[in-house]
Amino acid sequence: MAKPVCFSVKAYATPAATVPLAATTIERRQPTPTDVQIQILYCGVCHSDLHFARNEWGFTAYPAVPGHEIVGRVTAVGSGVKKFKVGDTVGVGCLVDSCRTCPSCAAGLEQYCDLGLAGGTYGGWDKHLNAPTLGGYSQSIVVTEDFVLRIPANLDLAAAAPLLCAGITTYSPLRHWKVGAGQKVGVVGLGGLGHMAVKFARAFGAHVVLFTTSPGKVADAKRVGAHDVVVSTDDKQMAAHAGSFDFIVDAVSAQHDLNVYLNQLKRDGNLTLVGAPEKPLPVASFPLLLRRRSLSGSLIGGIAETQEMLDFCGQHGITADIEMIRMDEINEAYERMLKSDVKYRFVIDMTSLQ
Ligand SMILES: [Zn+2]
Ligand SMILES: [Zn+2]
Repeated sequence: MAKPVCFSVKAYATPAATVPLAATTIERRQPTPTDVQIQILYCGVCHSDLHFARNEWGFTAYPAVPGHEIVGRVTAVGSGVKKFKVGDTVGVGCLVDSCRTCPSCAAGLEQYCDLGLAGGTYGGWDKHLNAPTLGGYSQSIVVTEDFVLRIPANLDLAAAAPLLCAGITTYSPLRHWKVGAGQKVGVVGLGGLGHMAVKFARAFGAHVVLFTTSPGKVADAKRVGAHDVVVSTDDKQMAAHAGSFDFIVDAVSAQHDLNVYLNQLKRDGNLTLVGAPEKPLPVASFPLLLRRRSLSGSLIGGIAETQEMLDFCGQHGITADIEMIRMDEINEAYERMLKSDVKYRFVIDMTSLQ
């Protein structure tokens, strides 16, 4: 395939794991007949951005441009695009492509494509340019229309950006394991993912309990929707809830003890991981054996489910709690994110890159 015509846009990139991000220019392809060109208005800052920029998962190609919580406006469409027109408000999440033929893609579960993360918004492979994909810390992006999402008109656009990763990452497992009324659901960690998990579990009708190591987060957890808060370092509080949960979402991306949360589950309960700590976490067999408990994981969501999640958020007025930053504040934001010093998601105002 001939390399398509490209155009240059401003972006923020890093050339190596130990170098801060800085302004640069990157190339985007001119829209092909099935592409949508999007001016990026806001981009959320995911913990994965930091892992990726610093090559903590070992597969980063440089220069790296992170960013996969993208909200923007359509500025051009290819001749064959049917679902979008210039001026539409749209989103792009963690995926910009997939093989479209494997069993997972055929089932609408593109996030589990046999090609792995080749369709990633960053860290994937752009088959048009024959180069690594570059993410949303940039002025614009060009994406095939099948991977572009509609943002409901009533949502605040900046606060909607984190729905594209933090939102779907927590919505999908809660839906898959059919969380709803009459169930007791735990959420571990009140960060970018955790605060969205609390909002969704509450909206689905469950009794929601937030586990945190910080007593200072109790009031805030209740404000975002938790019925109850357990300080996980307090053995008395943990004992009071032991064996009582139907489902727990663990949204912590740092090293921590899973076994104490397995012990919180009732018989046949399920603990699902959505965070990605760098090193393996030890699991003891007895907490699993004793009550036939399950430990599982879940990765973002497919395109159809992501649209379903966005529409649900439109109907229920759900967005993320955000702190807006300028593009040139990103390195400082990473340092604060490492200290959990953000309530609860940084979102970059991309006009600050113009
Ligand atoms: Zn993410
Ligand atoms: Zn596939």
